[in-house]
Amino acid sequence: MELDLLGDRQRTHHCGELRPSHAGQKVFLAGWVDRRRDLGNLIFLDLRDHTGIVQVVLNPAVSREAHDQGEQVRGEYVVGVEGEVVVRKNETVNPQISTGEVEIQATRLLLLNEAKTPPFPLDDVARTSEEARLRYRYVDLRRARMQRNLRLRHEASLVVRQHMSEHGFIEIETPFLTRSTPEGARDYLVPSRLRPGHFYALPQSPQLFKQLLMIGGFNRYFQLVRCFRDEDLRADRQPEFTQIDVEMAFPRREELFDIIERLMEKLFALAGVKFARPFPRLTYAEAMERYGSDKPHTGVGLEWTRLELPESASGALKAAPSVKVLRAPEGKHFSRSQLDKLQDLAKASGAGWFSYVKTAGEGFQSPLAKTVGESAVASLARAAGMTAGEILLLIGSKSDGPSTINARHLDEASDVLRRELAGRLRPTPRGAWNFVWVVDFPMFEYDEKERRFTAMHHPFTSPREEDLPKLETDPAAVKARAYDLVLNGQEIGGGSIRMHRRDIQQRVFKALGLTGEKARERFGFFMDALEYGAPPHGGIALGWDRIIALMAGESNIREVIAFPKTASAVDLMCDAPAIVDPEQLDELGIQIKKD
Ligand code: ASP
Repeated sequence: MELDLLGDRQRTHHCGELRPSHAGQKVFLAGWVDRRRDLGNLIFLDLRDHTGIVQVVLNPAVSREAHDQGEQVRGEYVVGVEGEVVVRKNETVNPQISTGEVEIQATRLLLLNEAKTPPFPLDDVARTSEEARLRYRYVDLRRARMQRNLRLRHEASLVVRQHMSEHGFIEIETPFLTRSTPEGARDYLVPSRLRPGHFYALPQSPQLFKQLLMIGGFNRYFQLVRCFRDEDLRADRQPEFTQIDVEMAFPRREELFDIIERLMEKLFALAGVKFARPFPRLTYAEAMERYGSDKPHTGVGLEWTRLELPESASGALKAAPSVKVLRAPEGKHFSRSQLDKLQDLAKASGAGWFSYVKTAGEGFQSPLAKTVGESAVASLARAAGMTAGEILLLIGSKSDGPSTINARHLDEASDVLRRELAGRLRPTPRGAWNFVWVVDFPMFEYDEKERRFTAMHHPFTSPREEDLPKLETDPAAVKARAYDLVLNGQEIGGGSIRMHRRDIQQRVFKALGLTGEKARERFGFFMDALEYGAPPHGGIALGWDRIIALMAGESNIREVIAFPKTASAVDLMCDAPAIVDPEQLDELGIQIKKD
């Protein structure tokens, strides 16, 4: 096929912008053939560019040459169209597209490039495997949905930059080739050629750099920044992802919250979403107690409470040191097998036992009746305030083993059950936007495997002032000045007020077992910096991909990233990671172990 050259022709318009007001104008458009319909004497092309679609008519009576050219084109060919905008007859108006009232009578058709048959139909995401979409991402990106999502992302980034700048934050880039940073995941390492045997690490976040910028006197910093974490497979994680990273000197938590809430308000307005401010707050302890999770979807209700067990309850019930109950209003929807499933879930998450009480006519029905008797069940149900039609779920902690671990497992079980119930009873209503700040996190969590405390947020988070004396004596009781922003059950950001004094930072490191030469080597430069007049400071980082996905109504962040990787961190399109030339390894002084 002979192809035409574009030369220095310029498009006069874009496809999606043509309206009846353009009637009579001579235009030159260019784009992809979205669809071609050959009616013999007339050929119709749907011409698509980044703004939309317009119909082109190839009529031999207008131009035989253009019509002949049109016989050769197929879907996704790249063409240029010269012609006149004409208003369609009433009966041929297409209300589905914004340009549906007009069409282009082509006087010339340039064939700019041919295209193989696309690997999948562009108008049908549902029937396309994600593997194919990622392998041929450049084709997939042509879909209206991907175009819309990435444009939204762009608009949103303008809003962030404008908003942060209005509040005195300046965007400063921090290095990608750096050393290990402390977010607790595995690092991506980059070997150094000039210092064989030495490695850079790609930043898991710019945490230390942003703190150093505060020490460096910049007052307020932000950055839309890529971060890299080598974590194990999870459906909706990307090894490289973007954060809005924020830090301010002399911070007031309330001011930071207000700035972020207003940012959320402006961002979600782009998606036509409104919600009330200020966002509610929940302490970590409350969140765990009521929802069993530090990122609860508060919008679905379904809260756990504690229940003083009536005297008459005995056996397994009384033996459980801790019991949580949840009243769900739609008891009749729970079949025996569904309840069995809830029981399995509860046990698998580490609860000691699970049971339930249903209303039955005037009375109650429960498997507990066998062990504690009908009247104990009735008083239990009354104590929980059950009304007709409800079901009461009960879970109890294990009675043997360490009580703190049992309590954690009970929380986990209450979270798992609540999610299961919410999924079944209360599918999140569209348009419900439940933001909540979770505050007062514990400073440390105990790592059962490593048998030591680790930082729940990261080791630069400041303990609450009133808890400082407990750092050495009772680390488990120390609360951190850390906070998370949660939206509809997803953590979309987190941050903290930091330590700005070396002595306190040192005590925290000590509590984390970060002492001696190793700590000095990793964080020595930062400890030194704290000695040169570090101001009080604090900040936050927000998950940019997740926020855009929520705004775009997408459940997977891959839909808002141009070139994402699979859940196993592979780029299917360019086949990365890849084996490199032996010479490259040689230069780096690296040898690959067999097996
Ligand atoms: N560096 C933290 C993170 O990436 C955020 C922060 O503490 O500001 O999660």
